[in-house]
Amino acid sequence: MNAVANKIAVVTGAARKRGIGFATARRLASEGAAVVISDIPSLERQLGENAATLRAEDRRALALTCDVTVEEDVDHLIAATLEAFGAVDILVNNAGILYTRLVVDTTEAEWDRTCDVIGKGTFFCSRAAVRSMIARGRGGRIINIASISGKRGGPYVGAYAFAKFGVIGFTQALAREVACHGILVNAVCPGAVDTDLNQEFEREFTSHQGAGQIAGTIASRHGIPLGRYATADEIAAVVVFLASDDAGYITGQSINVDGGVVTH
Ligand code: NAD
Repeated sequence: MNAVANKIAVVTGAARKRGIGFATARRLASEGAAVVISDIPSLERQLGENAATLRAEDRRALALTCDVTVEEDVDHLIAATLEAFGAVDILVNNAGILYTRLVVDTTEAEWDRTCDVIGKGTFFCSRAAVRSMIARGRGGRIINIASISGKRGGPYVGAYAFAKFGVIGFTQALAREVACHGILVNAVCPGAVDTDLNQEFEREFTSHQGAGQIAGTIASRHGIPLGRYATADEIAAVVVFLASDDAGYITGQSINVDGGVVTH
């Protein structure tokens, strides 16, 4: 399997071992890419362990801390990737954050942090990567990890849904801007995935006072047509497909990987 042989990939938010970011980096690496994994500085140790795991599997992997909301961090991430590997062919905007809050309980700080990590982070990383891809002149791929919350709002995810809807709009806009450079931009919209982030969401969601009024929503969360949550590897597989030559005629799309929950 060499779907992305000799490509250079950057994956944000890849420190957590059970997360979509690390699963994606691992799959990209197993398909022949060199990977740069990044996450916030407070997770530097876990990030380094993940890079060591990949290198122990004979993959090319580098760990670089980067808070995607900090412009200089992002510029450094891309510059250091160019220095280490000579190019950025693939960017996976995976970093994300979720506060499980009713809109009436959401603070300004929580709203801003959600929009900064998901919105501004996706913008900063995409801008820096696209600049380097255009300068190199050999195209590229950007894959944004959105969510089905970017297609259909639900209780307790007001800020998150606002930001993820934005990611889908940004994906469409950027795809049209950079198609002429051979850069393809798509989003993957996971449903419920068995990761730490989702476990925290489920725990907080079910513990909220007054959750009875939205009990139907909990039931519908468990009414996933395929009857189970996704694994991180199942999301990673779609990301790698979108990064591969086989997906050379797909751009501007937001592809649900959700067990059949959302059909638009
Ligand atoms: P996760 O918590 O394992 O991964 C998110 C990562 O983003 C974490 O490692 C976190 O440290 C990192 N991050 C947060 N703020 C950051 C910042 N400012 N800069 C850099 N990194 C930052 O959770 P996950 O479930 O693997 O989520 C990955 C992506 O998938 C997220 O964008 C999330 O919104 C999306 N998603 C997850 C699910 C799910 O059910 N798990 C569903 C839909 C979408």
